[in-house]
Amino acid sequence: MRFYSTNSPQQTVSAEEALFHSLPADKGLYMPTPLPHLGADFFEKIAGQSLADIGFEISKALFGDEISTADLENLTHQAFSFDTPIVELEPGKTSVLELFHGPSLAFKDVGARYMAGLMSYYSNRNDKEVNILVATSGDTGGAVAMGFHNVPGVRVSILYPTGRVSELQEKQLTTLGGNIQAFEVDGSFDDCQAIVKQAFVDPELNTHLSLSSANSINIFRLIPQGFYYVRAYGQVRKYSKPVVFSTPSGNFGNLSAGAMVQQMGLPVAHFVAATNLNNVVPAYIKTGLYATKPSVATVSNAMDVGSPSNFVRLSHLYSDGYDRFKENVSGYFYDDDETRAGMQRIDDQYGYVACPHTAIGIMGLEAYLAETKLDYTGVALATAHPSKFKPLVEEVLGRPIRVPERLAILADRDKQSIRIPADYEVFKESLLQSVS
Ligand SMILES: *Cc1c(COP(=O)(O)O)cnc(C)c1O
Repeated sequence: MRFYSTNSPQQTVSAEEALFHSLPADKGLYMPTPLPHLGADFFEKIAGQSLADIGFEISKALFGDEISTADLENLTHQAFSFDTPIVELEPGKTSVLELFHGPSLAFKDVGARYMAGLMSYYSNRNDKEVNILVATSGDTGGAVAMGFHNVPGVRVSILYPTGRVSELQEKQLTTLGGNIQAFEVDGSFDDCQAIVKQAFVDPELNTHLSLSSANSINIFRLIPQGFYYVRAYGQVRKYSKPVVFSTPSGNFGNLSAGAMVQQMGLPVAHFVAATNLNNVVPAYIKTGLYATKPSVATVSNAMDVGSPSNFVRLSHLYSDGYDRFKENVSGYFYDDDETRAGMQRIDDQYGYVACPHTAIGIMGLEAYLAETKLDYTGVALATAHPSKFKPLVEEVLGRPIRVPERLAILADRDKQSIRIPADYEVFKESLLQSVS
């Protein structure tokens, strides 16, 4: 498997290059080529298989001889130490695919952990420690920190703006220890990002350390997300109905991952792109015009994206253009009042507590099934555990909700961070000290 940039499809790079240098020099995005075709018999035999088993089988098809079977087996079983169960809301018609049983309680764990495993594999093969630098305003940092925790051959330095992340988010960044070092910056998120950018172009630092980013547009965060669509298909095949997936979307990585496995042969009848008021993709599907706009703040804030970076990937996957796109994807969007009302109604009707993003996914699925009257079986992706949005969920439902043990215990752990001013030279000095 090689990777082309969406801006220059004729040239390709290796998997290792695409993994460690997320962004091609021409500012496009990497896409895998060729995508292997998994035959119909592959999808027949996966019914009872775990996420790790399915990830292993697909990884073999993707990597071929590039990575040994034993190494791939090891990697996938370590990355996917948790499952992605289906919960039925209305049997045969509507179910929820829970993607939040990993360490940071959000689906981003799936991509972060697989990418971490791959980076560890290559750093061991090259006998070279990799240093990941990330600036975070909250959630991404948590998934990356937890995804890379205790991964051999990889050290992670996370920069976050002091006082501007939630208490729980800060605990996720600062209490792990080991190979995860948090830098608490007296400044804004932009200051953190500026420091990281300067580090990547600092020749002196780059001679001492092998630096890489865990950027969210890295293609190896998307590839493993395809595995849970396949796993879910195996779980709902028993209904013998066409399958539609509804994906709550912001940057459209999750939906691109679904479209990618569809190209690999997964029999997906249709996708629903469900968004909040940041609705440029639903608007595109309706009008054929793609117009990005500044993002607006909503209660489903992990989807507040006005210019989704993965739209270009989706367009490449549906390369025959707008008609092909529209044939495969429908769009629905909801404002905050509708989201709150949806969370409440889903709780009343099904006894299911959904985070705001998940509620949008469920509502989009219900709307599509009701409008088309198709006898499909629908799967809405649940992207985060409701307790990650505890104040909102409790306010909407009017009662306390349960916080999973692994999140609750963080509250009692001691924070460990290196506090620095928003000054590149100070950061560089303390980074060099902390890794020596
Ligand atoms: C990141 C995120 C999304 C959006 O996923 P994309 O791949 O960016 O479309 C949805 N829900 C939650 C909880 C998220 O953290």
